[in-house]
Amino acid sequence: MERCIFCMIARGELEARKVLENDDVIAFDDIAPQAPVHTLIIPKVHYQSMESNLPLGSLAALFTAAREVARIKDIADSGYRVIVNNGRDANQTVQHLHVHVMGGKHMSHGMVNFED
Ligand code: AMP
Repeated sequence: MERCIFCMIARGELEARKVLENDDVIAFDDIAPQAPVHTLIIPKVHYQSMESNLPLGSLAALFTAAREVARIKDIADSGYRVIVNNGRDANQTVQHLHVHVMGGKHMSHGMVNFED
């Protein structure tokens, strides 16, 4: 996708603080971190969301990379959250499927913040 910012990062056209890269995915730090560690993982191929019928191998690559990111960022032992904001109600703002890996500080238990 020509104008997708995450595709641009995957193509190296937009700068990002890269954490890891392999044939399937690229991980980079979130530009507006909401936790001491906040890294995004994207498939290199453009899929809009979980509803885009991506192959199981791509899903596995995202979750395997989440574990690798946690190790690289030294939060594997202390714990971390893996989040996908999928679609409108979840407030997905970038329409290229991505996984958030967040950690580095103890979090509260609640995961859902409704707007009203
Ligand atoms: P979401 O709300 O799940 O769609 O999350 C999109 C995330 O992408 C947000 O946390 C943004 O801060 C992050 N983001 C947007 N543009 C960039 C960028 N150029 N580099 C790194 N992270 C970005």
